[in-house]
Amino acid sequence: MFQSILSNLAILLLGHLLMSTLMQYRERLSKSLVFICIVLLFSGVIITMFYLPIQFGEYRLDLRLIPLIFLSLLRGWKITLPILVIASIWRLFMGGDGAIPGIIFGMIMPTLFALAFYNPNKNQSVNLKRVLIITGCWFISDFPIIFIFPNGMEVFKNIFLIRYISFLGVAFIYYTFVLLAYKNEALKNQLKFLASHDPLTKLLNRSTFVEIVEEKINDTHMNHYIAIVDIDYFKQLNDTYGHLVGDNILIEISSIFKKYECENVKVARYGGEEFIIYLKAISTKQAIKTIEGIQDEIRTTLFQVDDDLSLTVTVSIGLAMLEGESPLQDAIKQADTNLYLAKERGRDQLVVPSDLYITLNRL
Ligand code: GH3
Ligand code: MG
Ligand code: MG
Repeated sequence: MFQSILSNLAILLLGHLLMSTLMQYRERLSKSLVFICIVLLFSGVIITMFYLPIQFGEYRLDLRLIPLIFLSLLRGWKITLPILVIASIWRLFMGGDGAIPGIIFGMIMPTLFALAFYNPNKNQSVNLKRVLIITGCWFISDFPIIFIFPNGMEVFKNIFLIRYISFLGVAFIYYTFVLLAYKNEALKNQLKFLASHDPLTKLLNRSTFVEIVEEKINDTHMNHYIAIVDIDYFKQLNDTYGHLVGDNILIEISSIFKKYECENVKVARYGGEEFIIYLKAISTKQAIKTIEGIQDEIRTTLFQVDDDLSLTVTVSIGLAMLEGESPLQDAIKQADTNLYLAKERGRDQLVVPSDLYITLNRL
């Protein structure tokens, strides 16, 4: 009996191992292929469990419900239902007296019950609620035995302890592995985020920004622009209100930038109180409109220093269009030059290259 419990556990853990490997490579595969692999993998795990029942006296039990419960709780109906359907059809074709009740009470009903507790937040731990849900699933699966068999009460009494203990024990071990995998994945994502974003503002960092933009500028059907934004008199602001207030203003200005971020607009912290914006636009007019929109929003935002004091901040911006041999580096240089012009001309303004002015005036 213990051997068969362990073999059920081994299948579950092997399935988990394959799933973890699949998750590692999922970025290289299409979404639909990953979906199909998960469905086949878990259907395979459950079907294999049909053939390795736990022999307890004259009774044959299995732990097919455990993967279904965890799929329901952690991944939701979209992935659970196809697996439930495949496994149920397979079980139906295996035949036997217990096929129909086994499918209805042993699989469908407890899975639907577990699905009601689906929570997409994967940062979960083993807690009383989970134990109660698993107990509920076991109960839905095993309690009908009392009514299905002529001597149901006796059968239930004979198997309930071994069944409940093996069910809960294997579920606990499996869940521990699944949680560990989720924690590793969260850690990996966190590391990836830290490596590609600025820690204070959570905007993209410079190197990731360049990587993303290099890819985007391959699209020759659109115009590409670079804007460099510099906060005006920021040193004075730091000296007057302190660096913490300065930091908070950098964070709040960044959250304004984030509102504008999309496929065609990317923003990074360029360094200090300077930011760099990439824009993909049909026309220069459209690019200028977007940049002026951002500049206006920063100008009109009240930054709260404390309960009694709020202040406004302005930014100077230099804009350039990408063109030529090494477009990105050239555009950054040009945008920088225009930024210095904006500072020279009195700050709180946008400077675009003269040819862009000409283009703009023709529009
Ligand atoms: P200008 O209008 O010419 O741009 O003047 P400015 O004072 O903004 O420019 P300057 O280059 O003289 O000063 C930039 C200041 O930005 C100096 C530095 O202390 C501050 N700064 C850079 N990074 C940070 C940061 O992460 N947090 C805070 N609080 N201040 C920063
Ligand atoms: Mg500066
Ligand atoms: Mg400045």
